[in-house]
Amino acid sequence: MLRCVFNTTHLIKAQEFQSHLLSCESRPDFDRFVIADALPAELSAADQIDIIQCKEDWDAEPVVESYKPESHITNKLIMRRLTGGSASVRREFRESERKRFQNITEVNQDESM
Ligand SMILES: [Zn+2]
Repeated sequence: MLRCVFNTTHLIKAQEFQSHLLSCESRPDFDRFVIADALPAELSAADQIDIIQCKEDWDAEPVVESYKPESHITNKLIMRRLTGGSASVRREFRESERKRFQNITEVNQDESM
């Protein structure tokens, strides 16, 4: 018994060895290993990719503009607090917040009538 040079799991009788080397099914794998840069004879069905045409571009700018927290909160009843600044600046800010709340509640009352 001789061992096939293309696949060590093939054990062949000595008189059939030459014909096995010519017809061994592991020969293409061996050739692909030796000549790694060679292209395969033809692509299998699994290797052929279907390219789907699409107009959507994920790199394009979004339709909606980015979130601006300052302009978002201006019309909401959310109390803001100024950190830092002098006592007079903080007092002024609290006063402006109070006026903002008053304006929003007045607008809401007008809309509910
Ligand atoms: Zn073989």
